[in-house]
Amino acid sequence: MKQIAWIVVTDLDGTLLDHASYSFAVAVPALQRLRDQGIPLILNTSKTRAELAPLRDSLGNTHPFIVENGSAVCTPAGYFASPPTDTVLLDDCECRVFGVQYSQLMSRLAVLRPRYRFTSLSQLSAAQLAELCGLPVEKARLALARDFSEPLLWQDSEDALLSFKRELRSYGLSTLQGGRFLHVLGKTDKGLSLNWLRQLYARNQGGEVKVVALGDSANDIEMLKAADLAVVIRSPAHEPPQFDTTGRLELSEREGPAGWADVMQGWLDGLEQAQE
Ligand SMILES: [Mg+2]
Repeated sequence: MKQIAWIVVTDLDGTLLDHASYSFAVAVPALQRLRDQGIPLILNTSKTRAELAPLRDSLGNTHPFIVENGSAVCTPAGYFASPPTDTVLLDDCECRVFGVQYSQLMSRLAVLRPRYRFTSLSQLSAAQLAELCGLPVEKARLALARDFSEPLLWQDSEDALLSFKRELRSYGLSTLQGGRFLHVLGKTDKGLSLNWLRQLYARNQGGEVKVVALGDSANDIEMLKAADLAVVIRSPAHEPPQFDTTGRLELSEREGPAGWADVMQGWLDGLEQAQE
């Protein structure tokens, strides 16, 4: 493996992908520049493995990726000379699971359902989800192919939400607020899984690896806090998430992938100047 100094870890929806159109077209030149520099781009998303497969193809991305808000880190078989341990092989990827199995999670939600008002993704048809998220039906179908977590639309009070979260915690489950949904998952997050992956890179090249992380929502906070450079991408849908970090912090001027491209181009300029 070539010696690398940095990895770039990015959220997708509202960050690399436009909140409304899901396009990354405006970021293509910056993505190409990362590739030219040999800097791995790691997708770290609430999306499922099924959703990521076509997206990784369209991005031409062959690097490890993190699905369902840190529930699993999936490494293409053969990517690392010294491969990760404690993994399961799913579709040619070595997956280290930090979350819980979907069936286990859904049986817990079934117990809580009579006492709280919420709609979970599993209650929606692909057509309904497509309408709700402005997605093509085929893509909505991939979002319903879940392994480790369940997104909910919360329809009860804030007080009820506190009590719901408390009950989930007693089951060893946690919640994360994304751009559109409240995600129920195991005791993991995008930062815990990123730290594990960073160590895997470091072990494979015998030296420290630095991280740039980019995200737009509250479910990105742990990932942003784990980074050496945290980039908050402005959203058309909500205020930037607030948090403290010991690393550097930047806020994009523009929203979504345009902001992503601006910050990455500026960062790559700095990196190239430092190399000269
Ligand atoms: Mg997002």
